Amino acid sequence: MSSDLHDLLARVAQIVADERVRYETQPVRADAGLDELRAAFDGPVPLHGTDADKIVEEVAAAAQPGLVASPGPRYFGFVIGGSHPAALAADWLASGWDNNSGLYACGPSNAVMEEVAGRWTVEMLGLPAGTSFGFVTGGMMANFSGLAAARHRVLAEAGWDVEERGLQGAPRVRVVVGAERHATIDMSLRYLGIGAGTVEVVRADGQGRMDAVHLREVLEAGEPTPTIICAQAGNVNTGAFDPFPAVCDLAAAHGAWVHVDGAFGLWAAVTDDLRSLVDGVDRADSWAVDAHKWLNVPYDCGVVLCRHPDDHHAALAVEAAYLVQGGDGAPRDGFEWVPEFSRRARGVPVYVAMRALGRDGIAGIVSRCCSLARRFSAELGAVPGVEVLNDVVLNQVLVRFDESDERTRAVIDGVQADGTCWMSGTVWHGRAAMRISVSNWMTTEADVDRSVEAIARIHRDLV
Ligand SMILES: *Cc1c(COP(=O)(O)O)cnc(C)c1O
Repeated sequence: MSSDLHDLLARVAQIVADERVRYETQPVRADAGLDELRAAFDGPVPLHGTDADKIVEEVAAAAQPGLVASPGPRYFGFVIGGSHPAALAADWLASGWDNNSGLYACGPSNAVMEEVAGRWTVEMLGLPAGTSFGFVTGGMMANFSGLAAARHRVLAEAGWDVEERGLQGAPRVRVVVGAERHATIDMSLRYLGIGAGTVEVVRADGQGRMDAVHLREVLEAGEPTPTIICAQAGNVNTGAFDPFPAVCDLAAAHGAWVHVDGAFGLWAAVTDDLRSLVDGVDRADSWAVDAHKWLNVPYDCGVVLCRHPDDHHAALAVEAAYLVQGGDGAPRDGFEWVPEFSRRARGVPVYVAMRALGRDGIAGIVSRCCSLARRFSAELGAVPGVEVLNDVVLNQVLVRFDESDERTRAVIDGVQADGTCWMSGTVWHGRAAMRISVSNWMTTEADVDRSVEAIARIHRDLV
């Protein structure tokens, strides 16, 4: 049994390492189509078992044509980081250990690494000392968790115990959001019973930043009632940041809670050259950040952060004990800070990535990605017929071809089929655009140049 296990895991390591090397040279897209993959994987319910080594070989071989080289250096779709080798290895360690990370008692080492990784995250992002945190699946659940803490606090201030009484008969909660918020803010509000359709929307400018003058008007127009403002660090299309000092000043004047969705943009805080983009963000009340995007740990991992540990705990801990138990010196039970109960050790890859890269290494990834985004913008912008639609302040570049939705979509389709690189499409202010996101730790200038050549060639062939 034990030698079988060694052989099995060694084989898996070999398969994965081979695949990773392939990502640097082979087409970025998946080769296989839906029918082919269904034919490869589907079948009747297995009646009898198969040996582990055999099934692993079979599944790895069947999966290969349907894999996307998204951890590779020329995947620029959506906002998807890669995975740093140390973080990948740590993720495997955590799976191998298979300790439940809900409770300290189930996995003391995991709990302590998570405690340290959370504190390091707070410090690297420049947030107030003592900020509480929880490791969740991603930005979506981090937004949900931060907004749950917000809902608790604003209703508690109005004398309403939402954990006990729910929202039936509760004072109305105003939620003020920017027009260019991420869809997961709306999903979070649905799950929290506030309703996505009840939000008050603040205008955004041409880059997607919340308009602070309109925010003031919206806040002053409403009844004084429990209020939450959702701001954003890093728009998924343009990379733009909301004006945090103005948002936080207005929130303070209206007694509102500020939640910041900073899934990838919050990492700008780690750098020297981009930190000014997040000026004032440390004055917010809660934050959502992803680790699986720019920190380049494997899927899935996000972090919710909260300036008010008591509110965070009250909203998510299993018993609505309104004061944090234990205190300094007591072990930390991860399940008290997230919606999950049992879960994998998401803090372990974060802890290891932070040690492997160091603060300098993380800042280097973020700064380099942004410099590569500027390179994309300069090189593509110089191609006749190509227009860059956004101010490239971060890692996101929006590109449009021949002032035409149709041509732009055709170029995106062509690029995806070509396989040199992979970009997704979007619609920005009513116009189709190619969306380029640079978020991988291993992308180089040569990768950008090769990708630009491919895009320019595909565009030329269409003209
Ligand atoms: C990616 C993203 C989210 C959602 O995060 P997941 O990790 O996909 O759950 C939310 N907000 C922003 C700004 C994002 O970029």
